[in-house]
Amino acid sequence: MMHIGFNKPYFTGKETDYIMEAVLSGKVSGDGLFTKKCQQFFEEKYAFKKTLLTTSCTDALEMAAILLDIKPGDEVIAPSYTFVSTVNAFVLRGAKIVFADSTAQNPNMDVALLEKLITPKTKAIVPVHYAGIACDMDAVMSIAKAKNIYVVEDAAQAIDSFYKNKPLGSIGHLSAFSFHETKNIISGEGGMLSVNDEKFSSRAEIIREKGTNRSAFFRGEIDKYGWVDIGSSFLPSDIIAAFLFAQLENLERIQLRRKQIWNKYYEQLANPAMKNFIDLPFIPEHATNNAHMFYIVCKAENQREKLIAHLKMNNINSVFHYQSLHKSPYYKSSGGSIDQPFTDYYSENLLRLPFYFELTDNEVDFVCEKIIEYFTSL
Ligand SMILES: *Cc1c(COP(=O)(O)O)cnc(C)c1O
Repeated sequence: MMHIGFNKPYFTGKETDYIMEAVLSGKVSGDGLFTKKCQQFFEEKYAFKKTLLTTSCTDALEMAAILLDIKPGDEVIAPSYTFVSTVNAFVLRGAKIVFADSTAQNPNMDVALLEKLITPKTKAIVPVHYAGIACDMDAVMSIAKAKNIYVVEDAAQAIDSFYKNKPLGSIGHLSAFSFHETKNIISGEGGMLSVNDEKFSSRAEIIREKGTNRSAFFRGEIDKYGWVDIGSSFLPSDIIAAFLFAQLENLERIQLRRKQIWNKYYEQLANPAMKNFIDLPFIPEHATNNAHMFYIVCKAENQREKLIAHLKMNNINSVFHYQSLHKSPYYKSSGGSIDQPFTDYYSENLLRLPFYFELTDNEVDFVCEKIIEYFTSL
């Protein structure tokens, strides 16, 4: 009997060759040959001004919070429907998080709310491109510019996706990507900071290297290095970068297949008989689809529960996420109490279907068949 898992990391086959190459080179700490190759790849393919590999997207976000000098009393605006790290990175520096609700059309933050949420204490806005679908970045950037606020894109899910032809991750002052094994391009754990505003470039290198100017030293720009700022160890071993490079070489092929899978799901679930039961992902005119995930939105939480059970009975694993952050134990314990109806709506009704490179056409057909079977039997 067919068993369809939710995620399966895809290995191109070259990962271990490149790891071997890194090992044989004798240099496996950070900023080795493969780290440079990966960063160069991103800078060439997407014209990012400066990229720095990190050990996770979480780390890249923490670097961003340090770079922006986030201090106790500062406010940071972010969606509530997101992964913890989007906001935790700023909370670590003492920020107060001001949550923005999602839109009715998709889980991205509703930019129309920003004006009302901004106060003289607002230091940064952190839009999340949910499912790799762009937020309305023109609106975010123009309000940020008018109010002198920084923008940090949480582009964890947004590799190879675009907003009006601009690569996501190239628009905000800083951006964070993830290469966690659940993302499109992976290195197990891994991430990257894209530094789009040049004024952060040299300090970003220092923060990533434990607060030292070691990077400038290795480039021969200074004759000794020392402790010049705060920082931490945010750079990955070159072994991780070697793994990542094997994936990057196959990015086009991986993306092509993921889009085929996504379209296959969409075409079948756009079945008119499903219209009263589920909503499909909405991709605004300004955005591309990078096929990061396929989700459906049920009309009620008990419907989602029963659908999950029906799929499970047929050996199909579907999963839901995020618990609204504004209802999290941590937020409540820090005294927060607000209403975010759309965030709660996605939290209760959104369901992610099996999605990975090696998912076959037959498996997609089978999942769709079981979903349609469930709803038409009601
Ligand atoms: C995956 C993810 C993260 C965290 O990425 P890590 O690399 O695991 O730290 C942050 N934000 C969003 C929106 C994510 O999807």
